Amino acid sequence: MKKLSASVALAQQLVGFDTRNPGSNELECITFLSELLNREGFDLTVLSFDENRPSLVASFGEEKGPAFCFAGHIDTVPLGKKEWASDPFGRDIKMGRLYGRGSSDMKSGIAAMVTAACNLKKRLPKENKLILIIVAGEESGCQGSYHLAQNAGVIGRAGALVITEPTNNYPLVGHKGALWLDIAFKGKTAHGAMPHKGVNAVYKAAEAVRQLEEFTFNMEPHPYLACPTLSVGYLHGGINVNSVPDGANVGVDIRTIPGMSNEDCIRQIGSLLGGSAEITAKVNVSPLWTDPNLPWVKNVYATVAPILGEVPRPRTVAFFTDGPPLKAAYGGIPTLILGPGDPSLAHQTDEYCPIKEIEDATFIYEQLAESWYNFSPDKC
Ligand SMILES: [Zn+2]
Repeated sequence: MKKLSASVALAQQLVGFDTRNPGSNELECITFLSELLNREGFDLTVLSFDENRPSLVASFGEEKGPAFCFAGHIDTVPLGKKEWASDPFGRDIKMGRLYGRGSSDMKSGIAAMVTAACNLKKRLPKENKLILIIVAGEESGCQGSYHLAQNAGVIGRAGALVITEPTNNYPLVGHKGALWLDIAFKGKTAHGAMPHKGVNAVYKAAEAVRQLEEFTFNMEPHPYLACPTLSVGYLHGGINVNSVPDGANVGVDIRTIPGMSNEDCIRQIGSLLGGSAEITAKVNVSPLWTDPNLPWVKNVYATVAPILGEVPRPRTVAFFTDGPPLKAAYGGIPTLILGPGDPSLAHQTDEYCPIKEIEDATFIYEQLAESWYNFSPDKC
């Protein structure tokens, strides 16, 4: 049997860790990666946003010029209700594919960036600085990366960032922001036979849903990300039929575009609904956008064209990533999303990643980093 390449073997090992989120399962996997990178001589910082929820920042080099940074997350989504064809943590390789939860989203990307970094460390001059950021808690709203961004001293400084989420190794320039709101309405309970003695919270919530359906953002469409959207995902209220409900909740999924602030959106929704609604942002991730005409982006397109068999065009992705908080923490540096695995397989039953894409990603990451150090930062 053919020996697995280092990046595929590492991806296989990472899939063996159960890092499902919700949960607090990332510690063992981050410890494993810390030990690996420590053996390779990287400088390491581990920072936890909660008990057993650590993120890892690993780097080498002296930072004579702006550093190059790769980032990704180690948590995965749950398994879903449908039964898997094989053990989701069994690390099976069949028909040139690595199967398992997180194989596509995004342990293959982590394995490729770690392997590329280890290879680069052996041959780059020591004045070239490379940073790896591996976070916990992305799937529940980028908790790990927002926490790192609040402690920005930990991540140092960088000039360009690649998020190694699955894109079939196609470089993508952005995504919409995600703002998931829970809006709580309060009332006063009473017997269902005497509704005039209570205040019905479901009526308040229903009126809010009607207003939200008519809400418009007044934004010009973005040329690549189109228009912002709003969708009411749930209306929960009341306990039993013969009581006036004193509580109701409405869930709203808003997808924002560049030029909008999520905080402004919360204020607009608040003023639309009046003071009685209590709004909590459950997920609050800003949009991500990098101008595809920047010289560095063009340089990346030229670097990956021979591997993809085409010159990439500006494209975006539907899901959100750790890009927005990290890009902001680095002062708005150009940021691309590029990694192995088919984005449509993320979060699916029987998720897999083609091993060829893991090997290609490793090669691409090495090329991108090396070309970055030959690239003048003022050309960004
Ligand atoms: Zn992901």
